[in-house]
Amino acid sequence: MDETRRPDIAGQLAEAEARCAARGGRLTRLRRRVFEFLLQCGNPVKAYDLQDALRIPGKRMAPTTIYRALDFLIGHGLAHRIDTLNAYVACTDRHEGHQPVLLVCSLCEKSVEIADADASGLTDAALAGFLARTDSIEIKGACKQCAANAQPGTP
Ligand SMILES: [Zn+2]
Ligand SMILES: [Zn+2]
Repeated sequence: MDETRRPDIAGQLAEAEARCAARGGRLTRLRRRVFEFLLQCGNPVKAYDLQDALRIPGKRMAPTTIYRALDFLIGHGLAHRIDTLNAYVACTDRHEGHQPVLLVCSLCEKSVEIADADASGLTDAALAGFLARTDSIEIKGACKQCAANAQPGTP
């Protein structure tokens, strides 16, 4: 994760709203809060973290409510699911309906989306009849920082 990157959260929320409206979807209050939380974190977030963060005192929020909001965001290209971490991350590319290529660090559980990379280019040419059922490619490993911190000889 690039420490110098300062995402313009208000701008991204406004853009998300416009994108959803253009596609006939509505960025409801809850969906907006979920997306805002993903933007603020910048890193992959687990569903139960969202459930905790968005909890209204005295009110229980059903996990399905969170999952439905996440599905909406994913469907509108605003967020991606990272299977490896069982977590969700805001899309940092602005590619409509793209299949992201994500670098996932298994040590610090951060992820970086490769800009302008789209896995959907693989479907016909490279898969040779294989019916892919994934909407992303996750490259697992150690991020630059974790790799630098790791002592030689330890996994
Ligand atoms: Zn993306
Ligand atoms: Zn790392």
